[in-house]
Amino acid sequence: MAKGDGGSKKKSQSKASKKSKKDRRGDGPVVGVDVGGTKVLARLIDPETGEADGWAKASTPKTGLDDLFNTVEEVIDELLDGRSSMKDVSAVGIGVPGPVDGDGLVFKCPNINGWDQPIQLAEVMGDRLGVDVVVSNDVNCGAVAEHRVGAGKGADSLLAVFVGTGVGGGLVLDGKLVVGARGMVGEIGHMTVEPGGRPCGCGGTGHLECYAGRAGIDREVRRRTEAGASPFLLDLVGSSPIKSRHIQAGVEAEDPLTVELVDEAVHALAQAIGNAASLLDIPVVVLGGGIVDRLGQKFLDDITGSPRFGGFGPDITRLVLAERLDDAGAIGAALLAGED
Ligand SMILES: [Zn+2]
Repeated sequence: MAKGDGGSKKKSQSKASKKSKKDRRGDGPVVGVDVGGTKVLARLIDPETGEADGWAKASTPKTGLDDLFNTVEEVIDELLDGRSSMKDVSAVGIGVPGPVDGDGLVFKCPNINGWDQPIQLAEVMGDRLGVDVVVSNDVNCGAVAEHRVGAGKGADSLLAVFVGTGVGGGLVLDGKLVVGARGMVGEIGHMTVEPGGRPCGCGGTGHLECYAGRAGIDREVRRRTEAGASPFLLDLVGSSPIKSRHIQAGVEAEDPLTVELVDEAVHALAQAIGNAASLLDIPVVVLGGGIVDRLGQKFLDDITGSPRFGGFGPDITRLVLAERLDDAGAIGAALLAGED
């Protein structure tokens, strides 16, 4: 998954006006919006306690960016309806599924129709909403949510790993989101786990997400079924993509191909997570995403028990299930905006 800066902000405002705005609005609630490929979800949080209040959502329009930005505004209006007015809101955080630079410039979002060119989103939405807007990558937002108010609450440092179509990650070290010089910190999905192994969408080979991500598993199921492996999964989905629920069904039915591929995912995750945790001295790794949600604690126990767990092994690192499921992106975006 593409990564970006963890907390970039509209820069066009002068320092003085920003300060006066903060003085005026400093105590107000913060809105967090998660702009995803299928839905736009907004939540309102108290920046002091991190407590969330209310939510609103809409389908992501397929008809261009103007309609998308209108939808973001409408979802925020619906969220605030009867609770607060926009003038009380101290900041808005927006998480997007693409790389973001240090000035709130979103390069592209491949999962959103029409977003194939750079957009200065912090500025565009700041002008539309009349409030400070902070834009972050959605995976980093999820990591921040888990660290501040989720499964990693209380930990100094954590690595969050989200296993979905691909595998994304976000890193909090000593309480701070780390994004790196090029916004690529946390890209655990592209760590090599099998030299010369399965081809990756990034152009490399043998990367973690080819083994643990749904797209990689899907490709491998089709290849192995064609070569004579169990047709259980393809009988379920035909030419449609394999979803996490199908993988769960295959595990429950003890389908040999599913069990083999989930085993390979477990070992790949164990190798990458163990190595990353040892390099960075990470006490807690939070795992989330569709496959993890479906396979649950047993999946984590299998990873911890894998002989391929890298580095110093699982003794120095606890694996926990993510707690903020659907709203992690919105909550994390709001928390980052509130802290900025
Ligand atoms: Zn890759």
